[in-house]
Amino acid sequence: PARYYSSEPSLQETEENGFKGHSMLAPFTAGWQSTDLHPLVIERSEGSYVYDINGKKYIDALAGLWCTALGGNEPRLVKAATDQLNKLPFYHSFWNRTTKPSLDLANEILSMFTARQMGKVFFTNSGSEANDSQVKLVWYYNNALGRPNKKKFIARSKSYHGSTLIAASLSGLPALHQKFDLPAPFVLHTDCPHYWRFHLPDETEEEFSTRLANNLENLILKEGPDTIAAFIAEPVMGAGGVILPPKTYFEKIQAVLKKYDILLIADEVITAFGRLGTMFGCDMYNIKPDLVSTAKALSSAYMPIGAILVSPEITDVIYSQSNKLGSFAHGFTYSGHPVSCAVALETLKIYNERNIIEHVNKIAPRFQEGIKAFSGSPIVGEIRGQGLILGTEFVNNKSPNDLFPSDWGVGSIFGAECEKRGMLIRVAGDSIMLSPPLIMTPEEVEEIISKFGHALNATEERIAELKSK
Ligand code: PMP
Repeated sequence: PARYYSSEPSLQETEENGFKGHSMLAPFTAGWQSTDLHPLVIERSEGSYVYDINGKKYIDALAGLWCTALGGNEPRLVKAATDQLNKLPFYHSFWNRTTKPSLDLANEILSMFTARQMGKVFFTNSGSEANDSQVKLVWYYNNALGRPNKKKFIARSKSYHGSTLIAASLSGLPALHQKFDLPAPFVLHTDCPHYWRFHLPDETEEEFSTRLANNLENLILKEGPDTIAAFIAEPVMGAGGVILPPKTYFEKIQAVLKKYDILLIADEVITAFGRLGTMFGCDMYNIKPDLVSTAKALSSAYMPIGAILVSPEITDVIYSQSNKLGSFAHGFTYSGHPVSCAVALETLKIYNERNIIEHVNKIAPRFQEGIKAFSGSPIVGEIRGQGLILGTEFVNNKSPNDLFPSDWGVGSIFGAECEKRGMLIRVAGDSIMLSPPLIMTPEEVEEIISKFGHALNATEERIAELKSK
């Protein structure tokens, strides 16, 4: 049977007629999808490609989940992991004990981040844990400063910060909240900075940014500035649909945060290490954060690891108050796991040696321009992107307010047409997203553009059929 992309369950295999599917409770998978007899089972990878268990080849236009920056079979990462496994497969970093790879990696990350000087690095296993740790760190910091009421967080609609309790609360996607009794009450959400969808008639990008900064300021004043601890933002929103900040947005938002002594957390889980054509998203948009979350491309996803960067101002408070507060009682068994750190160190070394930023900037213009050439399609609302990340939104009549009926599953139709042609992408409603490996060749860029075009034609035809019914 075919794999199912429509929002309807398969007729022949539903839970009602007794089929229970495979034994995994699959993440971000609808119940009926996991009753699918044939989930897409990926077996091996090579460069920018992955292969399923039937040997079918796909260009991995999402780099796994926006993460396998160096592609699927980098032998140096395998060697780094193997060497470390042979030498010291595990030791922890609690109680001032640690390992050399974690110390070296912390140094390396600090030296690579140049948007401003950072003080220290805290290791996690994932982006979600990084953002959860940020919240605890900020609370601890405000407690150390004797500001027990300064505890609320402001995040943005459509943001994605992960799926643990706090990270899902920070996220601004309804599916992460509904049925999970979230968000937690200390989290507030402000505007999504998507100019195309949310600007007023005749409003320029700059005016739109001013309005959003004013809305943020009004929210802060309404809640009381003394109650707001931090603001968290992805430099480019990823899972929310690849939404780029409008002109002057971060400049204006940062001015408001500064005025009310509110910390800024840059969630660079997707954007760090070259994705946008700069080493960090903060470099691209002149963001001067107090805290930064990274994961994914830090190890090119060969081992799970996340890292948060903490400003010297924050670490100074934590250390100067340690007599009063005792130890910083937060950490994971696998914080700074030596194998993950060894693989991440080698990943960062490869980015430097192969000048990954230069490579991204060499191939990104054609990637962006090639896909954006499809903007004229009658079903495309907007194609947007930067560097090697790109999002497309399907709408009726080119209007952000004229959505296709959700039961048509237009994004899913496009996703299925891509998969049929041997290309894997991300679908979220009628938005689709691409975030290919950073090591792609120019030929692979052409392959993505060509497959995108053919899948788009097929989707247009399917919509014409649906409309004529
Ligand atoms: N923040 C952002 C911006 C992300 O895109 C993601 C994952 N896609 C996360 C946090 C969560 O990371 P993880 O899935 O590793 O927990």
